[in-house]
Amino acid sequence: MSDAPGLLVLSGPSGVGKTTIGQGLLRDPRFGRAVTATTRRPRDGEVDGRDYLFLSMVEFEQGVDAGRFLEHALVHGNRYGTPRDEVERIQAGERICLLIIDVQGAAQLRDAGVEALYVFLAPPSWDELERRLRGRDSEDPEVIERRLGGARVEYDRRGEYDTVVINDDVERAIGEIQGLALADHS
Ligand code: ADP
Ligand code: 5GP
Repeated sequence: MSDAPGLLVLSGPSGVGKTTIGQGLLRDPRFGRAVTATTRRPRDGEVDGRDYLFLSMVEFEQGVDAGRFLEHALVHGNRYGTPRDEVERIQAGERICLLIIDVQGAAQLRDAGVEALYVFLAPPSWDELERRLRGRDSEDPEVIERRLGGARVEYDRRGEYDTVVINDDVERAIGEIQGLALADHS
């Protein structure tokens, strides 16, 4: 329980369903997502400023030097970071800020003493994770293999989180996370 502006940190292996679950949570106007920055290329359908702030490596490094990021990390060979002003923008609207970041970024926030509900989203099985990653079909096979390798490393760090939620059924998982976040923030 806390009176501080709510922060919900969601991590989990690539392909587990973080984006899908995040979209579901955002149907509830009490939640808002902080748009994070990345140096990776946009996937088909992704829009700059909505899905990510797509930055060049130089722009990203300038942001790091200027202290623009609350945390930043190298994930699958690309750089990602949380702009401080994005979190502030959501929290200024009295909304619970949803932050979808990797395990390294979540650890940085935890180490910095940032108060949040830390949720790890896990797949029902490894076969299912692989199926989802391949089914998304937005990356070449080499990238998918790299992400599957990274998934193991991420999964092994689930114990660092306040809670682990299994993404078996989308609506069920959304309801569980929504309930946890609202209880944490009430
Ligand atoms: P992430 O953001 O974690 O990389 P996505 O949200 O892009 O993952 O989901 C990866 C794929 O898995 C997508 O094709 C999505 O539709 C599918 N998916 C997500 N959650 C479920 C679920 N509970 N059951 C079946 N498929 C799912
Ligand atoms: P994707 O490229 O599949 O969208 O994301 C790859 C990974 O980067 C995911 O685990 C995602 O949560 C993470 N990520 C996205 N934004 C950030 C961020 O700002 N900081 C950190 N540390 N990770 C991020």
